[in-house]
Amino acid sequence: MKIDRTEDGPLVPEGPLAGGANAPAPVEATSDAEIAARFAHVDTWVFDLDNTLYPSDSDLWPKIDERITLFLAELFGLDAMSSRALQKYYYQRYGTTLNGLMLEYDISASQFLEFVHDIDRSSLAPNHSLAAAIAALPGRKLILTNGSREHALRTAQKLGLDHLFEDIFDIVAADLLPKPAQETYDRFFDKHEVEPSRAAMFEDIVINLLTPHTRGMVTTLVVPKKGQVDHRESWEQPRVIPSHVDFTTDDLAGFLMRLKGRALA
Ligand SMILES: [Mg+2]
Repeated sequence: MKIDRTEDGPLVPEGPLAGGANAPAPVEATSDAEIAARFAHVDTWVFDLDNTLYPSDSDLWPKIDERITLFLAELFGLDAMSSRALQKYYYQRYGTTLNGLMLEYDISASQFLEFVHDIDRSSLAPNHSLAAAIAALPGRKLILTNGSREHALRTAQKLGLDHLFEDIFDIVAADLLPKPAQETYDRFFDKHEVEPSRAAMFEDIVINLLTPHTRGMVTTLVVPKKGQVDHRESWEQPRVIPSHVDFTTDDLAGFLMRLKGRALA
């Protein structure tokens, strides 16, 4: 499978995803001591927001997705089906719909971000176990998201996590260039003085872990539980976990709790 993308390179590797023999063992088969040892040097913890800090079967992402469709429908006077097709084209080609709109049309980024993140978050409840697990991590914690700062803040507040993070690096801070663009990670590392070789990244989109891995971060892919609704695009759902993913987990809080004993490793 080849997915054509921007000048930055393909969004997913060509052909079957790399991995196979090099693919990581499931975390269930890895001892706490082994996991702890891999994170022993980490002093900065970086989290994606959407479908990572809240589960992929939450109705939050579909609501944002619908608002994006509506934005395009109103902007171009399209019916829902045409608007949806255009949205998915932009997303696949440019990484975000906003990036496509910015490159092809002169639209206001702030107007777009405000509109699409204007959603009802009442379905989100505080996640006490995740809060406790993140709080127990030694060092700095940051959010790195392709969404807006306001969205990340409001969502983290609803989850009861906002007080745990030092800062949020959003799509505006990224100069509207979404992950997985390498420049965005470098801008993030510079702005927050993050040394990637001493940092870990948690994220639900496989390709967004490629540059973090290349820069020396420990990478963890957060996946849906078996049978759980998965709102990621079909081309974002890996058939094989590639070797730039160090760990996978369908229980972020549980996984982080397993790192608690890492100082003893
Ligand atoms: Mg995400």
